[in-house]
Amino acid sequence: MSTMNTQGRPTGVGEVGAADRQTFTGNRALQQEEGLIFELDSPGSNGVDFDEPEAFEERLGGLKRRGRIGLPDMAEPVVMRHYVRLSQKNYAIDAGLYPLGSCTMKHNPRLNEKTARLPGFADVHPLQPQQTVQGAIEVIDQLSHWLKVLTGMPAVAMSPKAGAHGELCGMMAIDAAIRAKGEAETRKRVLVPESAHGTNPATAALLNYTVDTIPANDEGRVDLEAFKAKLGPDVAAIMLTNPNTCGLFERDIIEIAEAIHAVGGYFYCDGANFNAIAGRVRPGDLGVDAMHINLHKTFSTPHGGGGPGAGPVVLSEVLAPYAPLPWTVDTGKGFALQETAEETGQAPFGRMTAFHGQMGMFTRALTYMLSHGSDGIRKASEDAVLSANYVLASLKDVMSAPFEGPCMHEALFDDSFLKGTGVETLDFAKAMIDEGYHPMTMYFPLVVHGAMLIEPTESESKAAVDLFIATLADLAESAKRGETDRFAGAPYLAPRRRLDETLAARKPILKWTPPAQAKAAE
Ligand SMILES: *Cc1c(COP(=O)(O)O)cnc(C)c1O
Repeated sequence: MSTMNTQGRPTGVGEVGAADRQTFTGNRALQQEEGLIFELDSPGSNGVDFDEPEAFEERLGGLKRRGRIGLPDMAEPVVMRHYVRLSQKNYAIDAGLYPLGSCTMKHNPRLNEKTARLPGFADVHPLQPQQTVQGAIEVIDQLSHWLKVLTGMPAVAMSPKAGAHGELCGMMAIDAAIRAKGEAETRKRVLVPESAHGTNPATAALLNYTVDTIPANDEGRVDLEAFKAKLGPDVAAIMLTNPNTCGLFERDIIEIAEAIHAVGGYFYCDGANFNAIAGRVRPGDLGVDAMHINLHKTFSTPHGGGGPGAGPVVLSEVLAPYAPLPWTVDTGKGFALQETAEETGQAPFGRMTAFHGQMGMFTRALTYMLSHGSDGIRKASEDAVLSANYVLASLKDVMSAPFEGPCMHEALFDDSFLKGTGVETLDFAKAMIDEGYHPMTMYFPLVVHGAMLIEPTESESKAAVDLFIATLADLAESAKRGETDRFAGAPYLAPRRRLDETLAARKPILKWTPPAQAKAAE
């Protein structure tokens, strides 16, 4: 007999062998097994009828292909099913709650998609004459305007294609300013808090700066005294995230900004968590010199997923002259992209990308802003913080939280509640997959042992958050009762069970080898 969960639904718990029941096809219920597209190859089948070519004279000489091209042949329905089945194996924000902390997986309104697909935005070419794409440039200009208004900063570079790319852009502007002052040889140190996202130290290192780590205090914030002790004339910048990756607001941020400026350094703010404060706090008022904005975390464009993304960088008065090309300007008679340093009359450090950035992302972000309005953007931030605090307050007694007090947009837990249970953070997260949830961020930030970082975002309903909380509470209690079986081999219900992630990372097999060749190579 299966039992009911606290929401009154049958759980399957108690049904013998439900998890490891084998099927003849390998399919699980209506979830279809699917091979690689190369394994589906059926030579000669395809979706089109080609006419026999008329007699022609060979002009390729020795270049004529002798064997098959190596692409699989298949009929249209087979191709169709292949990709639809793969898409169903992909967990997405459109499928369910996606609590990945630090990543802000929020709903992407469909209105954004509608505007992004308008032919005047979707079908323009970056090399088209500017007078034929005035509307598109106006969108970039308007989005720039609202990014500056929301951050209280005077300038913005629109072209970077992701948060990490924006960090590089902001730090290159800082580097250009340091060079302009003739301090390139002497300012070589960048201060980065222990809890920072890995892209921060990586960016500083890429630009040949030495990364110097600032410890956290026992409140999960920057240790102000330790930070001040590290200041000196060789410090180029601090890279600080606010709210930080423990989900906490850095209360000393103004003092930190003043102290870094006092030694001639710059304040880079990692703005990936802007979704928690947009409409409430303007980074410009906090003394920030450069900050990237992840449009995909704050203004609801889709996460890049390896494709085109957008990570604009706002810049202070002192860094504005170094912003990369092109610059968007309203000439009064229309909109223009300035493509050279001469046109700007300033000292742009160069270019981050071939063109002006991602039109589709810009259109989506501006649509989100205009459809929400200033009150809506503020409300989104407030609701994101409210949701996270609801999760924290509901679970802090059954799980365990490393820091006292309320959080911002994400709730951080540690693994002390799992102590002695034989269940680890990884097992706990894998058991969430069986329950239909993408795991939260695990083992990050590094400053907390066995960290679990949960970001519900503002776009989940109370009912959805309640079910999520009830699920985590059930898992936590199950672990404490010593039901290690539920965790040890989890996920039991995922098609490939638990993967060897270390092996996959160390020895990735990235190329398909036909079975005959693979056999011959053995
Ligand atoms: C997501 C994130 C980044 C990197 O942004 P991408 O768009 O993924 O490159 C940097 N810092 C923090 C704190 C983040 O959460």
